[in-house]
Amino acid sequence: MRTCVGCRQRALIGELFRVVVQDGRLVVDERRRLPGRGAWLHPGPDCLAKAERRRAFPRALRDPGALDAQAVREYLTGT
Ligand SMILES: [Zn+2]
Repeated sequence: MRTCVGCRQRALIGELFRVVVQDGRLVVDERRRLPGRGAWLHPGPDCLAKAERRRAFPRALRDPGALDAQAVREYLTGT
């Protein structure tokens, strides 16, 4: 079980996707095996928006930088 950084609800790993930082940007770890810290998120724009509003990614990933979530948003929306 992991906690979604957006809605803070616990869910099975298979229901969430893993986000990691690469070069100061948030990227989706599709195979859930990239090294380093990961943040877990439901695959929906609502939880992404909540996570951004709460600044959950810098906290979960221990990275104080301005993390660019564009790649995650594109992944979620398919654009
Ligand atoms: Zn969620």
